[in-house]
Amino acid sequence: MTDCIFCKIINKTATASIIHENNNIIVIKDIAPKAPIHLLIIPKKHISSVNQLKLEDKELVGELFLIAKKTARDQRIAETGYRLIFDTGKDAGQTIDHLHLHLLGGKKLPFA
Ligand code: AMP
Ligand code: ZN
Repeated sequence: MTDCIFCKIINKTATASIIHENNNIIVIKDIAPKAPIHLLIIPKKHISSVNQLKLEDKELVGELFLIAKKTARDQRIAETGYRLIFDTGKDAGQTIDHLHLHLLGGKKLPFA
């Protein structure tokens, strides 16, 4: 999608701090971190939100979680703990309509 900031980061027409990348997924630092470690795990396929997931995406969704697990270990927060969040829709405050999994940690996180 040409007007999507995450698609632009994925196709390198916009910059971001990239932590990890493979054929299907990119992991970047959140530009406005809400915890000492705040990363976004983003599928390269443009999917607007959890609401638009299809059966064919089930492996990709599994990979998002496995990359989250690996990233938490790499960031040394696997044992201290972390939170994974998919904001979906306006009541959740979703601001970017390209699926992304927040990985937050590095301190004791407040609820919500
Ligand atoms: P949400 O849509 O509410 O789940 O969150 C979108 C997240 O993307 C927010 O935490 C923003 O700080 C983050 N964000 C927005 N633009 C960028 C960008 N260019 N690079 C990295 N993170 C971004
Ligand atoms: Zn996109």
